[in-house]
Amino acid sequence: MKKINAVTVASTLAMAFSTTLAAVSPATAETCDAQETFGVIIHGGTAKAGNVPEARLSFMREILTDARADLKRGAEALDVVEALVATMEDSGLFNAGKAAINNAGGFVETDASIMDGKTMKAGSVASLKLVRNPIRAARLVMDETRHVMMVGDRGEAAVNDLGAEKVTADYFVNNAHHDEPEKHGTVGAAVLDRCGNLAAGTSTGGYDAKIPGRVGDSPVIGAGTYAKNGIMAASATGHGEFFIRFTATRAIAARMEYGNASVTDAAQATIDEMAAAGEDGAGRGGLIAIDTEGNFAMPFSSDGMVRGIASNTQAPVAGAFDEME
Ligand code: ASP
Repeated sequence: MKKINAVTVASTLAMAFSTTLAAVSPATAETCDAQETFGVIIHGGTAKAGNVPEARLSFMREILTDARADLKRGAEALDVVEALVATMEDSGLFNAGKAAINNAGGFVETDASIMDGKTMKAGSVASLKLVRNPIRAARLVMDETRHVMMVGDRGEAAVNDLGAEKVTADYFVNNAHHDEPEKHGTVGAAVLDRCGNLAAGTSTGGYDAKIPGRVGDSPVIGAGTYAKNGIMAASATGHGEFFIRFTATRAIAARMEYGNASVTDAAQATIDEMAAAGEDGAGRGGLIAIDTEGNFAMPFSSDGMVRGIASNTQAPVAGAFDEME
């Protein structure tokens, strides 16, 4: 079993990130015919017009710098996805992990999933109450059980038994985003490593005033998260109900696999389809995706989407609207 829970106490986030990768990731570049090309794309949820989330953007540039260095030295896509999402969960800046928002019952319920495009294995958790890093719990489900999805109190007990770190309720900065126009801030990552492996992960507190027990798209494989080697890896943000109905991330892969669409066209068509289906903007949201050649797609039909990219040729940039810097 990989010791991925022992490294979360480092004093800075950047350290936590690098330490995590160092602890879990032997340089896979040594075990494959390594290519130069790699890429990483992350999101921090949708953004409302006029609200430039500077703290989130600079945080994202920082962790992309670490991810880029790690990918360059041969870190595995799956490990980089897990580390990026866990670091965003711990940051207290996003609606995931520490700053996950309360549901209508006044408590946090978190959802997350991770998928390995190399093996087509996936792990997922939903409606967790006191797990520090839902993305790590999802990874444990994938690595340590025969199952894909563990939910609710019994799922939580199971992932705790597997080693998922438990916190007390006061760990969560409940409703930390009340002073912002929008309470979104789901996080996700999609990565292509130098061995050509693709992986993706997503983590969220859901959305404001959700009914206790409601599960969104983030933990649903093919909706909020999907990865398949040779094709693409993707993560979604927006009203999860639409992303579930339209199997959004799998729809991108299908458009590419069966329709020969580029990742840009496939992701855009998926976003457009959902936006057209929802009344009063209900189907709006965003998607991040990377294809097997390292091309990025990041369409959104919401006002904005907090996202960032880096690759072997692209220094880290992040933005919430059209511009990225
Ligand atoms: N997709 C998330 C959910 O429906 C929320 C979000 O991305 O803002 O749970």
